[in-house]
Amino acid sequence: MACDIQDPFGRAIRYLRVSVTDRCNLRCVYCMPEHGVPYEAPDKLLSVDEIARIVLLLSRHGLAKVRVTGGEPLVRSAEVIDLIGRISAIPQIADIGLTTNGILLERHARALRAAGLKRINISLDTLRRERYARIARMDRFDETIAGLHAAEAAGFSPIKLNMVLMKGINDDEIADFARLTLDHAYHVRFLEYMPIGQVTPHEWRARYLSNDCVLDRLNGEFAMEPIEVDASSTSRRLRIEGASGYVEVISPISHRFCAGCNRLRLTANGALAPCLSDNYEYDLRGPLRAGASDDELLGHIRAAVSHKPVQSDFEGRVNRGGSLRIMAQIGG
Ligand code: SAM
Ligand code: SF4
Repeated sequence: MACDIQDPFGRAIRYLRVSVTDRCNLRCVYCMPEHGVPYEAPDKLLSVDEIARIVLLLSRHGLAKVRVTGGEPLVRSAEVIDLIGRISAIPQIADIGLTTNGILLERHARALRAAGLKRINISLDTLRRERYARIARMDRFDETIAGLHAAEAAGFSPIKLNMVLMKGINDDEIADFARLTLDHAYHVRFLEYMPIGQVTPHEWRARYLSNDCVLDRLNGEFAMEPIEVDASSTSRRLRIEGASGYVEVISPISHRFCAGCNRLRLTANGALAPCLSDNYEYDLRGPLRAGASDDELLGHIRAAVSHKPVQSDFEGRVNRGGSLRIMAQIGG
């Protein structure tokens, strides 16, 4: 379907990431402050009806892909299952995914699958229980692993594992994560640590590691083969020769992938965020709740998209005082 929502640089919006909540049951060091952040009042969060309306409207103008995220989306599990059912019934949406820390997946994996969810990404930054408790600031490793197994049992395939790489924290596990792909059809994804939220330039630089380092280590240890991916993909994909799964590197800092960016984010409190590295947001909840027509809402969406920068600038942002919101609020 032709897409008639485009940014000033001619990039069409085909992918919406929806944060359904700013709440979370973990406090990952790279995402949340230790004592959390003040949560939005529940009535400030978009309802399932409001989110579904925006997705339906966008789907008539070229949207083809949605990812539900948060905060931890499964803290609103009943509503998320309902939302996924509604989105998966929209014929234009070919792809619907969920990003979760996995803690509540054991309970909900089957219902999510039955509702029409196609893809699951589970965040897992370490394979070691004690280390998990330090990174997530909660000792819930076993629940995440049980969630992973429940997702497999429910038939999700491939399952993508998101690992945020941090120098001196988990970079000694690169080979261990890659080895997981030998016998499992997982996509193990190494994400570069982005300076979002309350982090100083110094703190961020002390922990940031380029994914070039991942590639060096993998090439040093395994026979790796490159695998071709779609041109709009944000990741580079590789495989250990003969492995069941893949390794992917997502490198928003060292190798910006903005030229093919087709995404827009909807925050939990109903703002549109055209770029993750930028503080700019456009309030959609106001017009939505003031009774805006579909045409008026579309006008607001176009206005938001007109602010999409040509490319991200994470380093500039952190040097200029950082982002106003943390990742859990924007929707990673
Ligand atoms: N709570 C869910 C989870 O952790 O999967 C979904 C929300 S979380 C904000 C979405 C993704 O963003 C996770 O894979 C997480 O690891 C990643 N993320 C959060 N903060 C990040 C940061 N500063 N740099 C890179 N990735 C980050
Ligand atoms: Fe929560 Fe996900 Fe952020 Fe971790 S990365 S604190 S699980 S929102």
